[in-house]
Amino acid sequence: MNTIELENRHSAGTYPMRDIVLVRGQGVRVWDESGREYIDCVGGHGVVLLGHCHPAVTAAIAEQAQRMVTCPGIFYNDRRAALLARLAELTGLERAFLCNSGAEAVEGALKFARLSSQRTGIVATMRGFHGRTMGALSTTWNKNYREPFMPLIPGVTHVPYDRIDAMEESITDGTAAVIVEFVQGEGGVRPGSAEYLSALRQLCTDRGALLIADEVQTGFGRTGKMFAFQHYGIEPDILCLAKGMAGGVPMGAVMLGDRITGIHSGVHGSTFGGNPLACAAALATMDVLESEDLPARAAKSGAYLIDRLNSMHTPVIREIRGLGLMIGIELRTRSRPYLEALIEQGVLALPAGPTVIRLLPPLIIERDSLDTVLAAIENVLAG
Ligand SMILES: *Cc1c(COP(=O)(O)O)cnc(C)c1O
Repeated sequence: MNTIELENRHSAGTYPMRDIVLVRGQGVRVWDESGREYIDCVGGHGVVLLGHCHPAVTAAIAEQAQRMVTCPGIFYNDRRAALLARLAELTGLERAFLCNSGAEAVEGALKFARLSSQRTGIVATMRGFHGRTMGALSTTWNKNYREPFMPLIPGVTHVPYDRIDAMEESITDGTAAVIVEFVQGEGGVRPGSAEYLSALRQLCTDRGALLIADEVQTGFGRTGKMFAFQHYGIEPDILCLAKGMAGGVPMGAVMLGDRITGIHSGVHGSTFGGNPLACAAALATMDVLESEDLPARAAKSGAYLIDRLNSMHTPVIREIRGLGLMIGIELRTRSRPYLEALIEQGVLALPAGPTVIRLLPPLIIERDSLDTVLAAIENVLAG
């Protein structure tokens, strides 16, 4: 059996598969088993910030793999200590719980919020996406993801995004936390307005609720600043990070600000959380993000893409949205056939809901490749 047959036969079958077998990646490009080349604007769902196989990350992984791969959280470790200090410096939030994925970061955030606030309610947003495990799923909006698994955790309400009046009605003295994405990703690439997010910050403070920023997708430069919350000059109480933070090695983090109290040994844990291999990869990733000023580059490339997309006068485009290199092209029709046509043109892109083409290219993408992507999109949407 070939690769496709083996996967089709033995995988759980939870993913809508594209018919290509990817075997290699370098920079913004990936290759299939027949040697065909693609520009990767899927980037492992936004994980590939530095491009595939960045030499600094590859070297850090190789070196750490020869020193120590695993070290449980009950022992101190040099790489972990260095990463914790680096995360505190970058985010302004002093403490972190390290884990292995976005959903696990959200689970931790919900637990820490309950523990710290001694309240149980959570307010989440319509079109929000926070992951697929039971707690995270309870805060995710999409019915198709939620309904087969009911009942989920109680006490979660969903309110319209970018509407402060809805938050005012829903945050009560039983609300432990509000969880939001500063730019909704899966929900269609929708940046929140500055007025909304700063009013939400104030409202949470006034009502004694914690503000959880889910920056699993927006973090580490994607939106043109190191973190999306930095566009708005406000600080969350809890910050969820994952996706690209360790250059493709699985890793997540829950960052905890000053308002989080009452956490003591034994309340939470994770076998692989903060393992030295992931920590070394994350440190190398952050070095490159900073030394090459990749958030600023993402801001510039994103503005260029949005500008060029806005000047494409094809009737099928309804709206272009985005921030930095997180870009959504909302169509007047289903995006799926266009995504398939883009593969034929050598460009891999994602959906974000049924009618949106989402682009999450590596932040290192050069003008040449941006132009290739734009030409392919123009071809496909005109055709
Ligand atoms: C991807 C994503 C998650 C879930 O991350 P996993 O690593 O897939 O569990 C959570 N929140 C947001 C905003 C995401 O984009």
